[in-house]
Amino acid sequence: MKYSKSSLAITLSKLNVFAHPKPRLEQYPTDSEIAADILWQAYMKGDIKGKTIADIGCGTGVLGIAALLLGAKQVTFIDKDNTALEVLRTNLKDLNIDEGFNILNLDVTEFNGKADIVLQNPPFGTRDEHIDRTFLKTAMLTAKIIYSFHKTTTTRFVESFSADNEFSITEQWTVRFPLKQTLSFHKKKIQRIEVTCFRLKKT
Ligand code: SAH
Repeated sequence: MKYSKSSLAITLSKLNVFAHPKPRLEQYPTDSEIAADILWQAYMKGDIKGKTIADIGCGTGVLGIAALLLGAKQVTFIDKDNTALEVLRTNLKDLNIDEGFNILNLDVTEFNGKADIVLQNPPFGTRDEHIDRTFLKTAMLTAKIIYSFHKTTTTRFVESFSADNEFSITEQWTVRFPLKQTLSFHKKKIQRIEVTCFRLKKT
């Protein structure tokens, strides 16, 4: 195996991220340490190597790229923002990854593919109220095993929505997400919010 958890985190920390994040699309990349941690857990559970994976709302691609580095068979990257996908293309090129993926410039509602596994850190729904639900619904139509990040305060919703759709939560990891915020007086401040990655499995 080429990567350890820590070397994966280092490689991910070098990826390019959104140059001009669009607040309306809730564009913030998953922190590289957190991405490496979760992907490592997924890898150890046998959910990555040799699997087909959909990274929905992939942005600049940290989750799907981590999966490719850990031996995923095929990753489909989906995002509605082509500017983010351009950054993703650069990231793949920088890592000399030229096969085993496809990139779809689609809204989540337009995607209807299938995969073994969905990995997604979608918008949390702070701008567009039900977008987290839309992503979860799409993920459930795509795969039988899902890793999906949500604000920890919405855990009840994830539980009931999963039960209603015949999925159960098998694992959950709560992390503190750094959200970089620029204040009006140009001082950068890092705010943290509690986020949980849920592993959901079709029952
Ligand atoms: N998954 C990436 C990006 C997280 S930010 C990471 O972990 O780093 C959320 C992403 O969802 C952004 O790239 C944004 O462009 C995308 N997005 C927001 N609304 C969307 C929609 N309706 N359909 C598809 N992608 C969307």
